[in-house]
Amino acid sequence: MVKVFYDQDADLAVLKGKKIAVMGFGSQGHAQSQNLKESGLDVVVGLRKDSASWARAEAAGLQVATVAEAAGQADIIQILLPDEYQARVYKEEIEPYLTEGKALMFSHGFNIHFGQIVPPNNVDVFLVAPKSPGHLVRRMYVDGQGVPGLVAVHQDYTGRARDITMAYAKGIGCTRAGVFETTFAEETETDLFGEQCVLCGGVSELIKAGFETLVEAGYAPEMAYFECLHELKLIVDLINEGGLTWMRHSISNTAEYGDYITGPRIINEDTREEMRAVLQEIQDGVFAKEWILENQANRPVYNAIKKREQEHPIEQVGAELRQMMPWLKKK
Ligand code: NDP
Ligand code: MG
Ligand code: MG
Repeated sequence: MVKVFYDQDADLAVLKGKKIAVMGFGSQGHAQSQNLKESGLDVVVGLRKDSASWARAEAAGLQVATVAEAAGQADIIQILLPDEYQARVYKEEIEPYLTEGKALMFSHGFNIHFGQIVPPNNVDVFLVAPKSPGHLVRRMYVDGQGVPGLVAVHQDYTGRARDITMAYAKGIGCTRAGVFETTFAEETETDLFGEQCVLCGGVSELIKAGFETLVEAGYAPEMAYFECLHELKLIVDLINEGGLTWMRHSISNTAEYGDYITGPRIINEDTREEMRAVLQEIQDGVFAKEWILENQANRPVYNAIKKREQEHPIEQVGAELRQMMPWLKKK
């Protein structure tokens, strides 16, 4: 088992007298900047001049500046911009101010691991990655709790990088729940693998394949939607609460038997072979290269597939059925 670190393993005093710039006020940025401030730390939020978030950040009582100004003022620079824009913003607005002994940090290792951002060797480089969306990072902190997080040190120039990393993790509340030490490679590769094979890509295709099979066989799309999409949440909630065993305890015996017998026919050796191939492409940088080039070309593939996916019949029938469920807010 990996070692877990808690509040008593981190010292906020390490950050006293230091200024932290949080670049971005999106999902992670709004949560991390406010948590840090309420932990008694000196925070400035870095944004574009015309950003709609500027007023929101100020309303939350935070100091706000442009990315370049914030980078100039700060000792620790946390980049919480979308991963695909980080390299350009870094080059133009952060690198010029990244002077000796400062720290550059992230919540995801993509740009460092795949060499899109190459910091000078006289700064610290590390990551603190909460294992949850920003709104939960914020909500748990306000409740006096925290979400688990990952920490990793890529470059330790000052000899204090690890202490600073742990203190930052404490500042956003992660050490209240527990923090795991990892590497940029492990964080980046497992994150990409998980979202592609299981959480996003795997689940979306599984839902669609089940829906299409039923509809092709002549069943009503409404029935197919309920069985293959709507009920997924109930199952995932059970898995989330108590693992596969708890979910299987709660479903009918018939469903449980079908799970054991049929599951391995759907996710079979061919699927696993393909997962290994996907992992290889992540490790080799093939996926990263594709995504970087795709962005440089203004995302032709992404846009084409996105449009087609939004027009899928499951999305049409879903929109109608969700109107009958007042507890589901329209997305
Ligand atoms: P969001 O897309 O939610 O937020 C992006 C922020 O960046 C916005 O405030 C946006 O400004 C700002 N921004 C975008 N482009 C620029 C630019 N060119 N110059 C200045 N500011 C800009 O990002 P996330 O919070 O989702 O992701 C941030 C990082 O956190 C990523 O590295 C991601 O991988 C990581 N992460 C995210 C998690 C999540 O749950 N979302 C979980 C763990 C890690 P504006 O407000 O003006 O639009
Ligand atoms: Mg990810
Ligand atoms: Mg059923």
